[in-house]
Amino acid sequence: MSPSADVEAKRMSYTIDLEQGMVSGAASERKHSMNEQHSPEAEDHGPAEPVAQAETAPAAPEIDWHEFNIKSGDTLSSLFRKAGFNDGVMLSVIHGADEATKLQRLYAGEDIRFGLDDEGQLVAVELQRSRLESLKITRTEDGFVGKTEIREPEPRPAFATGVIDGSLYLAARDAGLNDRLTMELAGIFGWDIDFVYDVRKGDRFEVVYEELYLDGEKFETGRILSARFINRGTENVALLYTDSNGDSDYYTPDGKSMRKAFLRVPINARLSSPFNLQRRHPVLDVVRPHEGTDYAAPPGTPIKAAGSGRVQFAGWKGGYGRTVVLQHGDNITTLYAHMSRLGKGIKNGSRVKQGDTIGYVGSSGMVTGPHLHYEFRVNGVAKNSRTVKLPDAKPVPSTELARFRQLTDQRLAQFNVFREGDRQLAMASDN
Ligand SMILES: [Zn+2]
Repeated sequence: MSPSADVEAKRMSYTIDLEQGMVSGAASERKHSMNEQHSPEAEDHGPAEPVAQAETAPAAPEIDWHEFNIKSGDTLSSLFRKAGFNDGVMLSVIHGADEATKLQRLYAGEDIRFGLDDEGQLVAVELQRSRLESLKITRTEDGFVGKTEIREPEPRPAFATGVIDGSLYLAARDAGLNDRLTMELAGIFGWDIDFVYDVRKGDRFEVVYEELYLDGEKFETGRILSARFINRGTENVALLYTDSNGDSDYYTPDGKSMRKAFLRVPINARLSSPFNLQRRHPVLDVVRPHEGTDYAAPPGTPIKAAGSGRVQFAGWKGGYGRTVVLQHGDNITTLYAHMSRLGKGIKNGSRVKQGDTIGYVGSSGMVTGPHLHYEFRVNGVAKNSRTVKLPDAKPVPSTELARFRQLTDQRLAQFNVFREGDRQLAMASDN
């Protein structure tokens, strides 16, 4: 009956998978003990399970709950009637203080609970919007008072590992990682490793990630905390670190950023015309250097800031059409041309972060079809953005190195405990 019985059963099936050579899921068996031993994440998240019960049901009077699942066609009035209350009572609830009025917005699929005292009087109404969100309305001496409660799931570390045979995607799926975690894993290492061209059979990954629990039951997966990727014999390690400003990012164990200061490609689109200083211009039909790279994409495709910086120019620029130029540090500028429109808040002088949407693909200016024309300039000289050596993103600042070391030592220790446990399990299943 207890939620843990359910979890127990799931873990059994993982162990059976292990016999088939899928090492991954077995790690879930050790999750509990890992979590109890040490959880470096605990400080980031604070207490996980709010004491919901205690708040709505103070010890003294017993509350008798009547719960209904809301179907399409139900109205608040019909639900109150089902619970034995008339519209007068309903009005006294929705005219209550604070958020009580929000009870009027209800949707099919939500659950509503009516709490009655031992005399059959309504003392509480709860609307469960999702696993995490509920509206709780309680009767006080001054009438009903409503408030929204958001629960925080409890993160517990979990481990997965796999060896690549075909693609990262297949190996990750075998290891029990869902698509979102796989994309994140590829994103963390994607600055240095091209997962289409660089990955070889026998490459190996190990990941410690969060599983989010509610009432002792797995609810969904959270963040990747640490990861290791062995690519053609070279080890890459990434650790999640949240700095004192609250910004989280992945770093190597010695504090270097996993990211580059620039995205290699600032759009999800296909290359349509490469950087070429000898190119014949498609419209003018004369040799005119193509000082950028073109990416064909449907009109309206978002264009991302390749790096953090300041908007040096945003507006119409002759044959470039609607254009944004970003200034990054002293010597690098990036240019994005032929936009259909600018991104929100993009104007001269505004600050942008890497990955922000600065505009949308269009065919403004001198073009034959919708595309992004992207330029990367160093000291005003055009460089091939596909091959130019990109500077690393900022490392952990020296003022935070002590804090970084403390946290990442814990992460590495956690990582090694998982790896060692996994290795022993793998050995045990071999004989
Ligand atoms: Zn171009």
